[in-house]
Amino acid sequence: MKKSISYKRIIFAVTITLFLLLGVTVVVSCKDSVEKQSKNLTNYNINLSFDDGTKLLTGSQTVDYVNPYEVCLNKLEFHLYPNAFRGDAKVRPVNSNNFTKAYDNGFSEGKIDVSSVKVNDEDRAVNVSGEDNNMLVVDLNFDLYPDDRVKVQIDYIVTLPNCNHRFGYGVNTYNFGNFYPVVSIYQNGGFRQDLYGANGDPFYSDMANYYVNITYDSDFTLASSGVQNSTNQNTTKNTTQITALGVRDFAFVLSKNFSVKSATAGNTTVYYYYYDDPSPDQSLKAGVDAINTFNKLFGEYPYSTYSVVKTNFVHGGMEYPNLVYISDSVEDYKDYINVIIHETAHQWWYNLVGSDACNNAWQDEGLTEFSTLMFYRENPDYNVDMQQNINASLSSYILFSEVYESVYGKFDSVMSKNVNDFSGEMLYVYNTYVKGELFFDALEDLLGEKLFLKGLKNYFNNCKFKIASTDDMISSFEMVSNRDLKGFFDSWLNGKVILQSYN
Ligand SMILES: [Zn+2]
Repeated sequence: MKKSISYKRIIFAVTITLFLLLGVTVVVSCKDSVEKQSKNLTNYNINLSFDDGTKLLTGSQTVDYVNPYEVCLNKLEFHLYPNAFRGDAKVRPVNSNNFTKAYDNGFSEGKIDVSSVKVNDEDRAVNVSGEDNNMLVVDLNFDLYPDDRVKVQIDYIVTLPNCNHRFGYGVNTYNFGNFYPVVSIYQNGGFRQDLYGANGDPFYSDMANYYVNITYDSDFTLASSGVQNSTNQNTTKNTTQITALGVRDFAFVLSKNFSVKSATAGNTTVYYYYYDDPSPDQSLKAGVDAINTFNKLFGEYPYSTYSVVKTNFVHGGMEYPNLVYISDSVEDYKDYINVIIHETAHQWWYNLVGSDACNNAWQDEGLTEFSTLMFYRENPDYNVDMQQNINASLSSYILFSEVYESVYGKFDSVMSKNVNDFSGEMLYVYNTYVKGELFFDALEDLLGEKLFLKGLKNYFNNCKFKIASTDDMISSFEMVSNRDLKGFFDSWLNGKVILQSYN
């Protein structure tokens, strides 16, 4: 008996030890991957204060920038995205089709006024330039060598427009997407100065760490990227301290009408911030199911938080790291769920694996659309048939191209081009989302489901926390299939493939 008891105790102890070890290993490896990746990144320390009366956001930000390139830099350039919402902006995020939906109280101006710039504590001139006052140029006055750091301090005041957009406020939510000066990407001898137009999500940035304090009226609820470490409350104001490590951008949303629910998916707490949702548990479940499914299909989402946020927003949804907007204008609930799944897939294909969303929007949007269908294949209880959707996309694409051709003479089916070079929103949507989805379906047909998935996992592992070029994607699939796929990619991306209906 003694022996037996002692034997059982040993088994029990070994099991518990193994269990604990395994448990600890999982948590550590997951946390590790973000913490390890965050070590040599640029740090943004941002103090923000929002005044609801004036709709002004006062910001003081210190960027501890590390030169990630193999060349010396003698200046830095920052995108000033809020300036696209100016009254005299040449290129605007809202086109005429969406004007009344975005500005339901008439046009309202948004902008960013930079009041001071310092480099390593020395004053610099405030130099706003670019084609459309869209860039802040900061001369360093010295050469910043690869891997060296410089401290750039920028003070600014942001005017939030009354606009149902990524940046702007509506009846229920105050959306702060792309609101602060963010360092641009240096490429081919210069900093990228992409304009913020109505097509696509023309944002392109490197991974960084964010340490943000936000002060706001205490009757607001705050949803944000990263982890909200603490909130100091006094009678009228809250100040929340947030850390977001290893993310491509930082966004937040304030609302006086939010209810919040949360649940767990793997090592992540999923939050759902909402108003007017008769089935919030089901909406939250879609976020949880999406994180679980994509964890299994592509590789683990390594962050501890993910927030699905209902917003006043002119389009269906918008992705930011650790946080997505889901528009309250999506009326059909099945479509609403579809937006949650689509935006969640972007955590893999946009945030973790970055790509040039200005010139190769198909790379994240097409893959995100196809990933959404992969989600339905894995989760039959959602009652969405993958093949039926592919067939519908194909028919719709062919019909659109025929109608377009009959009106304009020629239909341009090139996928790989700048978002602002698509003549019109529909042409952009069809060639990026719809043809993008069909492209990944064709690639899966060519390689078979198993190799295709292996290729996607390979793409994720090779490129996570980085920016993936089209060549990186091609080689990720070539590596697992031992095939030359350059011609296949080229025929689709450059408009040579002729699509025919199955019927
Ligand atoms: Zn998308």
